[in-house]
Amino acid sequence: MAMPTELAEIARDVAGLPPAPEVLQIEVGLLQNFCEILFCPDTRAAAIVDPAWEADRLLRECEARGLRVTHALITHTHEDHIEGVDELVRRTGAVVVVSPREAEALAGAGGARIDAIDRLDIAIGRRGVRALDTPGHTVGGTCYLADGYVITGDVLFVGGCGRTDFPGGDTAEMWSSLQRLMALPEETRIYPGHDYGATPT
Ligand SMILES: [Zn+2]
Repeated sequence: MAMPTELAEIARDVAGLPPAPEVLQIEVGLLQNFCEILFCPDTRAAAIVDPAWEADRLLRECEARGLRVTHALITHTHEDHIEGVDELVRRTGAVVVVSPREAEALAGAGGARIDAIDRLDIAIGRRGVRALDTPGHTVGGTCYLADGYVITGDVLFVGGCGRTDFPGGDTAEMWSSLQRLMALPEETRIYPGHDYGATPT
């Protein structure tokens, strides 16, 4: 594999990013999980990142803002990140975006599926995000990069990185994934999968 930190590689990650969706960060459940609602202010289309624990509350937050959920974006398939996918799909018909290397874990959830392959651009109304393949915490760990921020799941937290000792974890891959994230523009805001740091972002 080519070193992900090569300049040409970094440039490809950030070049031509679509305009960023607006973000709502919501803490759910008892494990300090963060979900994000990403939305297009013009069309009111929305994506929910890692719907879990309080799907009903997430949907109410969307409803209160007149948002229509079109996608579920999955950073990885540990239960505390996907526990609400079923309900979300059932109630909204959202398309599930997940790494093909972890899609198996969501075989039971209905609805359409999109493979979150590296650098795939996903439209959320007139805004959008780009999938970045970032394994290490899990085999198919995926970050979602927008113009100005990145959603990192359990790859990167505020002040630390995710564990690599669960099944599918790999320390060398985690290192490469972190190098890749580190190469993003300095001002990039991190939205992690858990509220483990001194600040939420
Ligand atoms: Zn995890």
